[in-house]
Amino acid sequence: MMNADLHCHSVISDGTLTPEALAERAKANGVELWALTDHDEVGGQDRARAAARAQGLPYLTGTEISVTFAHQTVHIVGLGFDPHNSALVAGLRRTRGGRSERAQEMSDGLAKVGIKNAYEGALQYVGNPELISRTHFARHLVETGVCSDTSEVFRKYLTEGKPGYVPHRWARLQEAVQWITEAGGMAVIAHPARYGFTPNEEYALFSEFKAHGGRGVEVITGSHSSQEAVRYAETALEFDLVASRGSDFHSPEESRIDLGTLPYLPGQLTPVWELLADRIQ
Ligand code: AMP
Ligand code: MN
Ligand code: MN
Ligand code: MN
Repeated sequence: MMNADLHCHSVISDGTLTPEALAERAKANGVELWALTDHDEVGGQDRARAAARAQGLPYLTGTEISVTFAHQTVHIVGLGFDPHNSALVAGLRRTRGGRSERAQEMSDGLAKVGIKNAYEGALQYVGNPELISRTHFARHLVETGVCSDTSEVFRKYLTEGKPGYVPHRWARLQEAVQWITEAGGMAVIAHPARYGFTPNEEYALFSEFKAHGGRGVEVITGSHSSQEAVRYAETALEFDLVASRGSDFHSPEESRIDLGTLPYLPGQLTPVWELLADRIQ
């Protein structure tokens, strides 16, 4: 049993802690193998690796890439790649592009329902100017009393059909899997239970992911119920995928699950880190 936590976010994307504070928190919580997986960004990787080393904490490089598949957003986690690979770095930069324009449009949508200057408000929470996300809008709307917590903001304002929602074209599944794989890493489908796919669409996601070279799926994540974990353990076996485990921790105030405080992977699955043993730093 390994307390691996291979999914979390820092101020380089939409988390509230620095890579250094996350490394310290992971170590304090008993994490034995850690990866920082900022959205569409590897700018925190050198800091995270150095901070992990200072804590004596084994580290895998990480990222979480936004992909558009069957008209929905899917997240693909990459682990154990070279963070300086030029195709990966360029692909992620392109994926980040358009976030500012999207944020302006989100702000326009919110203004129509009487919420003024949300763009400027959200910017106050942004740590990386290329990575303004819905999470930063959610923090602003909670802080200004429009909603009482971030899930209420998403429910009322930031999801499909709501005034602050703006559809966005992210990377293609094939691109994200290739960037990760060609940089020497392993691609993993993040929190599969969070997508609103029909059974046919979900089958297509897993089949195409495998066909493009994807190797793993998150079975234990902060956003799966125990029933969902059982269901995706079966899916991992069905598609011959290795399994990953990660809290998806964003913030001490907002995240339900802290770093390293998840159930262990079910014993019949192959952990992704077994195949990445030579990439652990
Ligand atoms: P974006 O990449 O800008 O579309 O923002 C996506 C981020 O919003 C995710 O990575 C989560 O951190 C956050 N998020 C999405 N849905 C919810 C929700 N229902 N409640 C809280 N946070 C959410
Ligand atoms: Mn996030
Ligand atoms: Mn995600
Ligand atoms: Mn995440």
